[in-house]
Amino acid sequence: MPGIDSAEAGGILTIDLEAIVANWRELARRAAPAACAAVVKADAYGCGAGSVTTILAQAGCSTFFVAQLAEGRAVRSAAPGAAIYVLNGLAPGTAAALAEADLRPVLGSLPEISEWQSFVGATGWHGPAALHVDTGMNRLGLSLEEAESLSLSRDFIPHLSLVMSHFACSEIPDHPLNARQIVAFRRVRALFPGVEGSLANSSGIFLGPDAHHDLVRPGVALYGGNPTPGHLNPMTAVVDLRGRIVQVRHVAEGATVGYGATWIARRPSRVAIVSIGYADGILRSASPRSEKAGAQAIIADRPYPFVGTVSMDLIAIDVTDAPDDAVRRGARATLIGDGISVDDLAAHAGTVSYEILTSLGRRYQRVYRGAGT
Ligand SMILES: *Cc1c(COP(=O)(O)O)cnc(C)c1O
Repeated sequence: MPGIDSAEAGGILTIDLEAIVANWRELARRAAPAACAAVVKADAYGCGAGSVTTILAQAGCSTFFVAQLAEGRAVRSAAPGAAIYVLNGLAPGTAAALAEADLRPVLGSLPEISEWQSFVGATGWHGPAALHVDTGMNRLGLSLEEAESLSLSRDFIPHLSLVMSHFACSEIPDHPLNARQIVAFRRVRALFPGVEGSLANSSGIFLGPDAHHDLVRPGVALYGGNPTPGHLNPMTAVVDLRGRIVQVRHVAEGATVGYGATWIARRPSRVAIVSIGYADGILRSASPRSEKAGAQAIIADRPYPFVGTVSMDLIAIDVTDAPDDAVRRGARATLIGDGISVDDLAAHAGTVSYEILTSLGRRYQRVYRGAGT
């Protein structure tokens, strides 16, 4: 519902497309001479796959990754000339639909490979496909042994354009699994000479040239998530989220706020009620609890804490210490932006920026900033 008017919407979600382009250029620079693709699955991590694909294709990105066929169709219409890979592979009976949209399956199991071979054999389809080989994640992909025997077999994958694998722990640079996966992937590449290789996600790019191969596949870093947790975020912020204050109320000392009465006013308090809740992606786990602080909102340049439990459509903020004129009905409270990063909000909710971004709801007024939109 991008057409929701700002006076009516509970929140305004601003997505900075120029920042996404700047992030893509920065990642491409770090990965060079490898090429840089863009992962736009899950509606480009909640940022809007159509707008993001259009702007990145204009910036020179020519390879996109989605998780599912339907996502691939949407990306195809935004980037008619691009290579588009479907990471979740070939769902049974969907080869013709993939070919119809000129999408490339990332084949990750022997049954998928034989179904694709039959389709190509029967139709003469000339479109490429990728092969996923597992190097330690144990999620998708052939085992090394399966890849070895496939590489020797006569009925090889037709038009194999890319061989890939995926890191399990690249955001923890000294995790021993990274080195093992890098070594294993080198062996995989040797099985398929002349075929391009791809291993690195966002954090993998920061593991250095051994992880880069021919093509890197960043997702979250494009959207401003920190690919180097524990270190300064090298990416530019993309998302800004503001909610509207519905009302400001006085809470007597000893009274409680919200479901479950989890917060008790220790002094006469003032609480601002903001019209964004967990249905909009501010996870309930961002609520304060006796053992941990909750998330914060910025009102008139200063941070104030969440109180009580985040509800479906509303959050309560303790603004007792705020100047009177800053906190009034209709004023805005910033949940992401003004110094609060997506990673900060994620940390308060006990999760990762990926989950915050992909949970951003449908009820916002969406504003796209930058580059011809
Ligand atoms: C999601 C995904 C990516 C992108 O990962 P980020 O950590 O968001 O950069 C890359 N490759 C595969 C296989 C993925 O599933």
